Amino acid sequence: MHWADVIAQELQLRGDRQLISTGISPSGFIHVGSLREAITAEAVRKALVNMDAPVRMIYLVDSFDPLRRRYSFLPDEFENHVGRPISQIPCPCGSHDSYAHHFIQPLLDSLDELGVHCDVHWTDSLYAEGRFTETIDAVFRNRPRVVEILREVTGRDVDADYVPYTPRCSACGRLTETKVLEYKFPYVEYVCTCGNEGRADIRTDQGKLPWRLEWPAKWKIFGVTCEPFGKDHAAAGGSYDSGAVFAREIFGIEPPRPIPYEFVQLKGKGQMHKSAGASVTGIDAIRMVPASVLNYNIIKYNPERHIDYDSGMGLLDIVDEYDRIETLYFEGGADEKDMDHLRAYELSQPHGVRDHLPFHVPYRHLVNVVQIAEDFEGILGVLGRTDDAGVMEQRDVDVLQQRVECVHYWLNSFAPEMVKFSLLDSLPDVDLVEAEVDYLRTLRPELTSIQWVGDMVHDAVYGAAKAQGLGAKKAFQVLYRIFIARRSGPRLGHFLATLDRDFVLDRIDDAVSTYARRD
Ligand SMILES: [Zn+2]
Ligand SMILES: [Zn+2]
Repeated sequence: MHWADVIAQELQLRGDRQLISTGISPSGFIHVGSLREAITAEAVRKALVNMDAPVRMIYLVDSFDPLRRRYSFLPDEFENHVGRPISQIPCPCGSHDSYAHHFIQPLLDSLDELGVHCDVHWTDSLYAEGRFTETIDAVFRNRPRVVEILREVTGRDVDADYVPYTPRCSACGRLTETKVLEYKFPYVEYVCTCGNEGRADIRTDQGKLPWRLEWPAKWKIFGVTCEPFGKDHAAAGGSYDSGAVFAREIFGIEPPRPIPYEFVQLKGKGQMHKSAGASVTGIDAIRMVPASVLNYNIIKYNPERHIDYDSGMGLLDIVDEYDRIETLYFEGGADEKDMDHLRAYELSQPHGVRDHLPFHVPYRHLVNVVQIAEDFEGILGVLGRTDDAGVMEQRDVDVLQQRVECVHYWLNSFAPEMVKFSLLDSLPDVDLVEAEVDYLRTLRPELTSIQWVGDMVHDAVYGAAKAQGLGAKKAFQVLYRIFIARRSGPRLGHFLATLDRDFVLDRIDDAVSTYARRD
């Protein structure tokens, strides 16, 4: 059985109604691994829906977290904002409501595309609306026990005076510089390192619980029954362990069923993002392949397994594998070991499974086609020459169009140089030698008579090289040079076959006559 179905069954044994929680602290660029959490949660949600179990999902944006430091991608003036909640810091680009919005908005858009069905909540609003009041008061009333639990679970030497609540200074706006003097519901007296003395009302956003208590407080507020989180939180003595004890002893609830997940490891070369200087972001990941493919590449793996994410050539394998499973799903013939993959395929569809197998253009083929054609019409033209594109329905065209956009994004970001080329409109300045021109003269009549498909073109190119006594490698190079001004490129036979036959013949004639004129 697929892991998402196993978890869903287990949850049903624990209670009638399920609430899955997931979220993020949007302090900077969002790593592709952050998407794993939301996608994992959504898989379990879909599995519960399939069992007709009542389930809701929430996505919590930790917008009240303080900015920890001025990250290298932030301008100097952000130094002044360190310690303030990110909901209260201006957006770096000027067009979002806040720093938190700036970094989370693209991710929220992605959640829609990925088909993650959730209600979004912002922690700064939850504080402002007084949703944390009961839990903050419980923390103050049980403060000595809270300190004990922290000592027991973490093994750290926590100061007996430690107060697990940080007022937000009314003068400097920082959450990180205040010291609590006294608590009497609902007010907290404090002093700040900036010299300000003030009073915070726990029924508003004038202060915050630290992470280890805020997390179980959210479980209490929403009635969370299941939550995926990165394995760092799952370590012994980590925040899930302490959260579970706080949940039971301080807030009087059972902690949610945890789904610790392994990290997504970036693999291969070319992982640096050109503009941000950061590695592959979650946004990149969803721009390079369609949402269903990204979902599949996550849901296929048990959360306990780490995922190698290769944004270079490995990306092509990811799409090939998806296409293979999609074909099995519609055409049957899957063996035992692919059964869970078929289920993963189902769970990966953002808006339900299609009613027919979409027309497939393999990604590695499309990578060449989009570099040959000028626009989408041109792509359809090329595919019409070489593939069965004539029978495409509009919905297949839509699938293709999305793939084309993704391929463009990949070529402009993480694709290795070796797959990139540009087909030249006219003969480039090539300096051919006589043997090479003789080879083209031998090849030309062969190309006029064969069937215009990749394998046949390949055989002709190869056969002519042999007949002419020119090494195959040299022969291939001549052709790459006159079409793309490089010495290597896409698989030659297939590449030439995607071009119009007359275009290819004209280019060869041009190369031969240019050489003749030079003599
Ligand atoms: Zn912005
Ligand atoms: Zn202050």
